[in-house]
Amino acid sequence: MVRLNEIRPNEVTVEAPQPTDASLVFIGRIHTPWTSRLTCPRQGRLDGPICTIEIFEPWVAALAGIERYSMLEVLYWLDQSRRDLILQSPANDGSVRGTFSLRSPVRPNPIGTSMVRLIDIDGAHLRVQGLDCLDGTPLIDLKPDRCQFTPLAPPQAGDDERAAVTARID
Ligand code: SAM
Repeated sequence: MVRLNEIRPNEVTVEAPQPTDASLVFIGRIHTPWTSRLTCPRQGRLDGPICTIEIFEPWVAALAGIERYSMLEVLYWLDQSRRDLILQSPANDGSVRGTFSLRSPVRPNPIGTSMVRLIDIDGAHLRVQGLDCLDGTPLIDLKPDRCQFTPLAPPQAGDDERAAVTARID
């Protein structure tokens, strides 16, 4: 069940430190069909509605080359979330789980991530499918999908490092 900002039975809040959002720079804004958390999907779908990611200046030139990738990782700031819950009840049935075992938008640093399909780019606007955030959600970062991305810099020592001891299988 979607939450607005209520506390449910057995949920636990903490005295959270004052947020210092100013240490992040929002590089754009996400335009989606959803204006209410009650109707927003919980996870995006690659066949979901087309959404637009708007990039602000001076970051538009940083899109150069992104058209090579059909899949992008999008990081965004779930700005309307409360941030002080450590135990949450997603089903609102009295059972609780720790915030870090959930993908809930309610977390100390409300970062959302989605893998999206890039449809096309028009200047500062990217049309994508696969998002699950409210209209106007601030954009933190864009990255090429890690499977499609091959490092462009020369290899370095740690790239192929493996664990020294492998797990024992009994
Ligand atoms: N896909 C992301 C992830 O896994 O990190 C986000 C998942 S989160 C469960 C998606 C939900 O966050 C939506 O269904 C909506 O209820 C809520 N949400 C979306 N945009 C938000 C915003 N700007 N502020 C607060 N909550 C938001």
